[in-house]
Amino acid sequence: MPNSVLIVEDEENLLAAVKYALERDGYEVFTATDGATGLDLGRQPIFDLIILDVMLPELDGLELCRILRQDSDVPILMLTAKVEEIDRVIGLEIGADDYMTKPFSMRELLARVRAMLRRARMGREANLAPRVLTSNTLMLEIDRHSVTLNDKQVDMRPKEFALLTLLMENPGKALTRDQILDSIWGKNYVGDHRTVDVHIRWLRQKIETYPHRPKRIITVRGIGYRFED
Ligand code: CA
Repeated sequence: MPNSVLIVEDEENLLAAVKYALERDGYEVFTATDGATGLDLGRQPIFDLIILDVMLPELDGLELCRILRQDSDVPILMLTAKVEEIDRVIGLEIGADDYMTKPFSMRELLARVRAMLRRARMGREANLAPRVLTSNTLMLEIDRHSVTLNDKQVDMRPKEFALLTLLMENPGKALTRDQILDSIWGKNYVGDHRTVDVHIRWLRQKIETYPHRPKRIITVRGIGYRFED
């Protein structure tokens, strides 16, 4: 069965070009040209990936992404026209998996889509093995996608969960920001180290007693981060 992709984009020419490129690459493509229609369609659990433009009529792409994320882990690729939007796009509130800044080449778009689908598939396969990671009062259950601290459930976005899993699987070992980016966001991800730093900050707010004096996720100056068991 071909992977199905939803594109929400109001620029008709770009929409047509992206649709054409994806269809030629073997995807089944659905489209919407405004945010409200995109939301109606995007809520259907039939898509393997969703491509969202930030600037959309009726409901913008950021809001649309935020709403879809509330009950779906579907990979979301955002298309942005402005570099300033990037922090919000990958942010906690919005929760997109990746972004591309306009203009972009169709070749790069296809590479990105393939990488995101591969990661999603690997994530599903990894989730089949029931594994539990613990460190003092912190417990992460990979199969249940659950984190508890002092027996209280901690809400985690998919990327935060993946990052904490990576850290807890490598206790005492300094991980470079590049290693973290490659492992969580994939080798084709073009975002910079800020992506890692921002997610580390959010994780600390959730699992550290004093986020500014972390005892679990330690900054290794000039390198990256280390999880202390
Ligand atoms: Ca637009």
